[in-house]
Amino acid sequence: MDVECRVRECKEKWVWSAQAQMAADGGKGTARPPARMCSSCYDKYNNLNEQQINCRTRGCDGTWIWTRGMQLEAEKQGHREPPKRMCDDCANEYADLEEKELPCKLDACEKTWFWRRGAQLEHKKAGYNEPPKRMCDDCYNQFVQLKDQTLKCKVRGCEEAWVWTRGMQMEALSRGRTGRPYRMCDDCAKKLTEFKDKQLLCKHEGCEGKWIWTPEMQLEATRRGQSPDKPPRRMCEECVEFLDKAQTAQIACESCGAAITWTKEAQLHVKLGAWVKPTLCSDCRKNK
Ligand SMILES: [Zn+2]
Ligand SMILES: [Zn+2]
Ligand SMILES: [Zn+2]
Ligand SMILES: [Zn+2]
Ligand SMILES: [Zn+2]
Ligand SMILES: [Zn+2]
Repeated sequence: MDVECRVRECKEKWVWSAQAQMAADGGKGTARPPARMCSSCYDKYNNLNEQQINCRTRGCDGTWIWTRGMQLEAEKQGHREPPKRMCDDCANEYADLEEKELPCKLDACEKTWFWRRGAQLEHKKAGYNEPPKRMCDDCYNQFVQLKDQTLKCKVRGCEEAWVWTRGMQMEALSRGRTGRPYRMCDDCAKKLTEFKDKQLLCKHEGCEGKWIWTPEMQLEATRRGQSPDKPPRRMCEECVEFLDKAQTAQIACESCGAAITWTKEAQLHVKLGAWVKPTLCSDCRKNK
């Protein structure tokens, strides 16, 4: 009787002799043939050695045994390399794990991603306990299409650039922001820490008000090649406000009654006590 080789994928047969069949169940002839290899498989089998193969889990030092039978089957399937498999410890741990649904790492995104069991195992083997921060599939697909962009420093006078990374772009997109951000280059951000707010006196004579020369303004002055020790002349808040509210006025000359235009600036100087309110038109002043 011809019986199929026990090795899966092998089409060869082996012969179960009548004598052996009789011996199998005392001559009744009802016994089923045993699982046995064909002679060619058997020869190969005898020439193989069990192999210790490294566990497929990254970070695991464990191994598993690639038995001769498994090697034989693999060869019949045309594989020379051992399959990727977990060691017993990993396989047990893996069986106890459950796929987890975790939130997208972008705060503004409501979607989730699935943490597969194999990835959990590798994460643990790498010594981490907390789940990784990862984008959901939608965000990730958007992310991979983005490119890092080099943008000009926002400080006027600075020629340097900074890199708007894909991660930063993605973060902005997830918050619904589309425009390009204004930012300082790294150099400027570092340099900025060298400056402090400086309180400076208002540029108007007679004004006690102060204005603040901010680190940003000082940085910009430096970038434009100006000395940080020579602050610009500026008005205080109060003076700015006064000019905002004031209106150019027309007043009558005390002598001839002609209209005198009293500018906002002139009004400010009068308020500060540096000038006096005009009473005569220019003609009357000349003729006085
Ligand atoms: Zn065979
Ligand atoms: Zn393992
Ligand atoms: Zn997302
Ligand atoms: Zn810069
Ligand atoms: Zn002032
Ligand atoms: Zn006049």
